[in-house]
Amino acid sequence: MLKDKFGREIHDLRISVTDRCNFSCVYCKSADPRNYFPHDDLLSWEEFLRVARVMAGLGIRKVRVTGGEPLLRPGIIEFIASLRRIAGLEDLAITTNGYLLPEKARDLAAAGAPRVTVSLDSMDATKFARITRTPRSFEKVMAGIDAALDAGLAPVKVNIVLVRGFNDDEIVEFARLGRRRHIMVRFIEFMPLDADHNWKRELVVTAKEIVDAINPVFPLEEIPRHSPSETALRYRFVDGAGEIGIIAPVSIPFCGQCSRIRLTADGKIRTCLFSMREHDVRHLVRNGATDKDIQQFMLGVVQQKEPGHRINEPDFVQPDRTMVYIGG
Ligand code: SAM
Ligand code: SF4
Repeated sequence: MLKDKFGREIHDLRISVTDRCNFSCVYCKSADPRNYFPHDDLLSWEEFLRVARVMAGLGIRKVRVTGGEPLLRPGIIEFIASLRRIAGLEDLAITTNGYLLPEKARDLAAAGAPRVTVSLDSMDATKFARITRTPRSFEKVMAGIDAALDAGLAPVKVNIVLVRGFNDDEIVEFARLGRRRHIMVRFIEFMPLDADHNWKRELVVTAKEIVDAINPVFPLEEIPRHSPSETALRYRFVDGAGEIGIIAPVSIPFCGQCSRIRLTADGKIRTCLFSMREHDVRHLVRNGATDKDIQQFMLGVVQQKEPGHRINEPDFVQPDRTMVYIGG
């Protein structure tokens, strides 16, 4: 079992399979496409699978595949199918910008139907193109959501990062989309992990503001948490038309219940999104370490998991590694 020194059990692994992305969302990635890791720095599929297998042996039960944009990396479908076969992994999910779902949703379903979360930050095509800094992104992502639903990849969730002044006028519109399409929409507070370093507290739209915007139009009631490590606050529509989630790391931090650990595309273990230190598992994997060595390493790394993210502390410093290189 992976348990840190604060007694938190670690059973969720997020694997960022690439730092490449075809979007440059303003809250995530720089518009400069030259900032990619050399290809040899990225773990191979076999290397990712080996680390995932070792970690499943240590009690990891859930894997979320992310990026960069995970569907861009050739071999992703076979990777998902291989993860599905790892003994002990009970839950497999993928977070994608959805752009490639029209061509990949069926193969994903055949590879083991991971739970799919699609990021969509505006219901207005022009605005979405401005947020993603990519033309025609809206049409492709909407087609991607349709393709995921058609392929039977239920439940499909939609992530919305709210940035004040960009898309906070669309909160009710997103709630309406969720109700109409039977999709769980999840609003995420903007975190200081953007490459452009534009994050300011004033830009964060808080959980309370989100509930206050939706409640008068579609009354909500809070759903008690299933498990203490659940990141999203959940609310159901009182009229039975589904539910929404709110991920509020800034205004309502959940670090005390965190069960996550992250593996980056270049083979670094991060014990927190906001870690200032990372742990090089690629070096072990590429230099003859046995599975037992990797297990021992992981047990030690987990002991160094930070108590919390410190965003709300006066001396908070944004880590050098930004979201596109970590995987949300
Ligand atoms: N490219 C995929 C996508 O966009 O879904 C997967 C990677 S992306 C880094 C994973 C998630 O992190 C997305 O839902 C994205 O909206 C979210 N994200 C990126 N930057 C963020 C930030 N600064 N604050 C909060 N969430 C962020
Ligand atoms: Fe790419 Fe996802 Fe970051 Fe947008 S949020 S730039 S789609 S990695």
